[in-house]
Amino acid sequence: MKLPLALVTFCAAGSLLAGEKQLLNLSGIPSKERMNVPVEYVWPENAGEAAVCLWKDDKAAAISYTIDDNCAMNIDWWLNEAAQREMKLTWFVVTGGISNSNPAMNGEWSQWQAVYDAGHSVESHTVTHLGGASKPEWKGIEWEYEDSKEAIDANIAGNTVTALAYPGGGNSSKNDAEVAKEIYIAARGTRGTTNGARGLDYMSINAMSRPNIGDNPKASFSDCSLLIDPESKAYRGWGVFIYHYIKGDNMDKTREQMDFYYNNRDDFWCASFSDAAKYAQSRDTSTLEVVENGNNRIVLNLTDWMKDDLYTYPLTVKVRLPDGWNGFRAKQGEGEELTTQVIEHEGAKYGLVDIVPDGGQTVLIPG
Ligand SMILES: [Zn+2]
Repeated sequence: MKLPLALVTFCAAGSLLAGEKQLLNLSGIPSKERMNVPVEYVWPENAGEAAVCLWKDDKAAAISYTIDDNCAMNIDWWLNEAAQREMKLTWFVVTGGISNSNPAMNGEWSQWQAVYDAGHSVESHTVTHLGGASKPEWKGIEWEYEDSKEAIDANIAGNTVTALAYPGGGNSSKNDAEVAKEIYIAARGTRGTTNGARGLDYMSINAMSRPNIGDNPKASFSDCSLLIDPESKAYRGWGVFIYHYIKGDNMDKTREQMDFYYNNRDDFWCASFSDAAKYAQSRDTSTLEVVENGNNRIVLNLTDWMKDDLYTYPLTVKVRLPDGWNGFRAKQGEGEELTTQVIEHEGAKYGLVDIVPDGGQTVLIPG
């Protein structure tokens, strides 16, 4: 919530307002203290009632495609494949060698700027992949986590790094979630299973380097087809894939794994790693209030506990529309008109609208 300075000072001395909490991540917050957006689909019964959706656009589940260790020789291939399927990808880059050594592998900053400009996400995989930890002059894990973020932010205009992928390999025991949680909103681990939707350890999100799109049904713990199967316990969770250098047959296999999303795009939200982590943590701590509920005007206020300057990714809110509203328009604060959708469920009309938590009241009118 953006408050006038005088008001902030006053509130700091008094009781906490909703939205005044400014958490970097939910590390250390027990899941029972997080708000209760249910895993089941919610369809409010009365006109004007509203609910926060579990995932963006009320999709069943989330899926993220992440690429490690730069592998700059694959950038063009990925950008082309992603554009064909309207996918948003995440690169976790090792910063030490960028525009410095082995350009085919590490890439140049201009290439990473182009990746960002194409709508993808560039996040941190440390400075040296912890390879430097074998040397006496190593500056430590905090430096690995902090300096990589600073380098990316300084060299890619517009980008703000918020996520880390812990490097594997020989020095992986140097990784430290206690340090990461002071710098990042979320970190990707390497436990090769799917994630649930709620109660997540955001400093150790599960991710699989052998993507399972239902072609390995014996490994149900990693089977991402179950994320969109209403009969499965895994229904409505979050799957994260990890890729490295790909060539030859692996390119065909990777295309199949990208088609898995594209063929199921009505059910999946294909999210960058950090967008999914932002959405989930805002959602986990959200409070949605219907401030005004009239036949010609509905006013909503959405707040969360997260840092307002980083958690700007909107939450999708579902509103039961009053009779006679075939469509609607919405505006948050002084902002632009928002994109809205109308969907039907059991004969009733519902509106979907994306609202930024702590971004001011949102007004809905018919039309
Ligand atoms: Zn790596």
